[in-house]
Amino acid sequence: MMVYGGIEAGGTKMICAVADDQLTIIAQESIPTTTPEETLAAIFAFFDPYDLVSLGVGSFGPIGIDPTQATYGHILATPKKGWQQFDFLGALKKRYPETAFAWTTDVNAAAYGELRQGAAQGKDSCVYLTVGTGIGAGVVREGKIFEGIGHPEIGHTYVKRHSEDTYAGTCPYHGDCLEGLAAGPSLEGRTGIKGQDLPQDHEIWGLQAFYLGQALVNITLTLAPEKIILGGGVMNQPHLLAQIQQAFLKQMAGYMETPPVEDYIVTWGLPNKSGIIGCLLLGKEQVTAHD
Ligand code: ADP
Ligand code: ZN
Repeated sequence: MMVYGGIEAGGTKMICAVADDQLTIIAQESIPTTTPEETLAAIFAFFDPYDLVSLGVGSFGPIGIDPTQATYGHILATPKKGWQQFDFLGALKKRYPETAFAWTTDVNAAAYGELRQGAAQGKDSCVYLTVGTGIGAGVVREGKIFEGIGHPEIGHTYVKRHSEDTYAGTCPYHGDCLEGLAAGPSLEGRTGIKGQDLPQDHEIWGLQAFYLGQALVNITLTLAPEKIILGGGVMNQPHLLAQIQQAFLKQMAGYMETPPVEDYIVTWGLPNKSGIIGCLLLGKEQVTAHD
């Protein structure tokens, strides 16, 4: 059977899906990310029964995206054991030599999925920011994924510290970058309580909104996207979005005009699906022009 495939390759799990030519998903499986060998064996077991026209891969990173470099298709400086310098795309291409591939980051795929079918439908640009185990952001501009010498790594940009904050931060590379100060693990690191178990009125949320609001100001000032979409486990806190919107307005301080904040900063339109839908779309568009 001819199908279009997608892999949303996360550091915790890999979501594999195949879809028909309307991109309706006909089979999907979540595979735990363990060693590359074991994980790939499970990925092959999922896709082998199909005639794969295309496979769109959105991977955890950082990854090599320059086709002229030897590192193209590789996972780069990840703290994840066994995956450093692993030629992920190469292994997939070897198994499916007739298939057309798309290769980008998990967050770029999610941004693209949101632009084409989610919260940023009808726009030309958006940024998708996930706040989970890490913080990552994907950027779409002029309808295309934005890349340069590498892919943007907005999660690791620096933010101004809150005057009362003395927490060292959790990033193994930078300590107190945005991810170090405001990703899920920082909630537990600061309070001893996992994010999902923290009460709504805990003062930590104000601090978290301070950092995330600041990050969105920086994104707006540098990229001026038409929409910013927030996803990831931590955004399951229903009160957090409004706090981030307010922190954004306060720190923007009226400097740059943006759409009304309720329209401009939103949560995902395709909850838990932006990534895999983006992967399927990017794969399919390798073989057919998009409508
Ligand atoms: P991953 O980033 O590994 O793909 P998630 O996006 O689910 O996974 O993020 C996991 C992180 O989100 C963990 O640090 C977890 O504690 C935190 N988290 C999950 N649910 C909630 C919640 N309801 N409120 C706050 N934090 C949460
Ligand atoms: Zn960092």
